[in-house]
Amino acid sequence: MKPVIELRDVHRTYHIGESTVHALRGVSLTVEQGEFVAIMGASGSGKSSLLQILGLLDNPDKGEYLIFGNNVNQLSEDEQAGLRNNLAGFVFQQFHLLRRMSIVDNVRLPHIYSGLKGDFRQEAVRRLALVGLEHRIGHTPNQLSGGEQQRVAIARALVRDPLIIFADEPTGNLDTKNSAEIMKILKGLNEEGKTVIMVTHEPDIAAYAERVITMRDGVILSDERREGGIRPAATGATDAYELHLSGGAPLWSDGRFVGFMAQAFQSILANKIRSLLSVLGILVGVASVIAMMALGEGAKFAMQEQLKSMGSNLLSIRGGSAKIRGAAQGAGAVTRFTMKDVEAIAALAPLVRNATGVASGSGQAVFENNNWSTNLEGAGYDYAVMRSTTPSIGRWFTREELQRREKVAIVGVTVVRELFGSANPIGKTIKINRINFKVIGIAPAKGFSGPRDEDDIVIIPVTTAMYRVLGKDYLTSIYVEASNPAQIEAAENAIDELIRKRHRLKADDDTFNIRDMTEIQKMLSSTTETMSMLLGSIAAISLLVGGIGIMNIMLVSVTERTREIGLRKAIGARKNDIMLQFLVESVGMTISGGLIGIMTGIGISLLLSFFAGWAVKTSLLSIFLATAFSVMTGLFFGLWPARKAADLKPVEALRYE
Ligand code: ADP
Ligand code: MG
Repeated sequence: MKPVIELRDVHRTYHIGESTVHALRGVSLTVEQGEFVAIMGASGSGKSSLLQILGLLDNPDKGEYLIFGNNVNQLSEDEQAGLRNNLAGFVFQQFHLLRRMSIVDNVRLPHIYSGLKGDFRQEAVRRLALVGLEHRIGHTPNQLSGGEQQRVAIARALVRDPLIIFADEPTGNLDTKNSAEIMKILKGLNEEGKTVIMVTHEPDIAAYAERVITMRDGVILSDERREGGIRPAATGATDAYELHLSGGAPLWSDGRFVGFMAQAFQSILANKIRSLLSVLGILVGVASVIAMMALGEGAKFAMQEQLKSMGSNLLSIRGGSAKIRGAAQGAGAVTRFTMKDVEAIAALAPLVRNATGVASGSGQAVFENNNWSTNLEGAGYDYAVMRSTTPSIGRWFTREELQRREKVAIVGVTVVRELFGSANPIGKTIKINRINFKVIGIAPAKGFSGPRDEDDIVIIPVTTAMYRVLGKDYLTSIYVEASNPAQIEAAENAIDELIRKRHRLKADDDTFNIRDMTEIQKMLSSTTETMSMLLGSIAAISLLVGGIGIMNIMLVSVTERTREIGLRKAIGARKNDIMLQFLVESVGMTISGGLIGIMTGIGISLLLSFFAGWAVKTSLLSIFLATAFSVMTGLFFGLWPARKAADLKPVEALRYE
């Protein structure tokens, strides 16, 4: 029968900066199954170092360690974790219970890393009953006394039915009465067949063991057996014992992952304020992006509606170069259009449905003591339909009034406000450039187009404008309505040809230009594109800042929970288990921040549309993107802290203060 444990000339040296400590200097030791071994010695003699190597929490620098004849030093980190989970149960002086969990959850924790299916509550309760704590299962460790906490730790050590129990000063933090109880439990377990290896420096505690090994300065000083030496092993099947190295099911097996989710949730809830503060960056970023995107979409939608109402098959023709738009005057030759041109263009049916001439300029409008300088627009009869300016109050001028050059005016709402205040302007007489006009209608409000107030306008018949007010015999521009959107280009070409013929222009003379609304649409959509790029960069920056916040808090969390990580590794957590646990936590935080942000954003946009009357449109895409980005932020910024946690060495993590 092979011994459970065989150490051959094991050395362990610690390096702290320049100095080195030889904690173990050639320890050889054999332990048979079913033994109860106490390791004694003065503080610093290497007892814990030895136990850590025996418990696979640490590896020797030199020498061999065999379990049932298998050399375990060659095993990988994860394989050793699997062995710790299967073979070993640990009891520490500091208990190392997880304070946020109930004691049942503490006891069944090793099962998360076993890869076995089931919730193992019953197993946990059974072990708690074994240590006399079945009536406290709902309590958290903080509600228990030290002795009770150590009993919970023993129950945890037993839940996987280990072969060997490793106890490092299990009674070190307990009074005499509690110490005796703990020792009775350990003794009982040993009598049932478990191998127990215990470190202590108290002789009366060591007296429970049948074999006492005394250490000094990293070597074994004496090794004494009492009461007839080794008892026979409880089971005889140890020769056939095979080491289970796998550590169980893959990470994604349902039990493991659900366990991680539950723990992440617990840990986020345990630090509510802190979690909320650390996801604030993500929350604010996502909320503002959702709200702004809703506003942007709403504005775009409203703009498109407005364009539709303006007539999207509208063309405008102006004198002046196509290249230097807006600065036509004085920039070389300019074609001057007349009403005859309008008639000729209107005759281009069926390509053209309608055409109207416009003569515009500026005007000084006066009513009683009020004085207002405004835009004067001389319009043809069809202007009302083509530009959607048929007055909702009052009326448009008639064809007769246009022909007779009558002095009638339709005023925009800005002009009404400036000249009349709240009085009704219809039927009143105003002066425009010192000429009396009768107000016959109010133009429908159009709002601003860019910086231009479309309602700061007085519309009069184009004939009146040219011959009575502005004193010129040509038009500023001509509006043309193509018969359908598909033929805008054909209409443009036909008009271009017609004008060149009528005005005897050569093909490359650049003295007039034709613009269509699709151009304006293009301009608008490029504006909205710029806007969404701006929004995108705001989103990127806020997610970056938020992500750094998450990374920061995750690093704090890893540091804070170093001992927890050590404990988890001791009971069999593999590298990836720890990594996944922290990743799930950081993604959990960013997702919840993102979701609260989405709801806040929708709330803000609803408020804006309700109180400010702004057009908003929350798109499903923006919600989807926001969620996806919060997940990615969590993954990206959680990765480094999670790696840091996963790379911790179990022993060092357990010693962390
Ligand atoms: P014991 O448990 O018998 O009190 P330890 O095995 O804990 O002794 O420590 C043996 C020696 O090794 C001591 O001098 C201790 O300071 C040193 N030592 C133990 N662990 C470490 C470590 N992680 N880093 C540096 N020195 C250590
Ligand atoms: Mg010690």
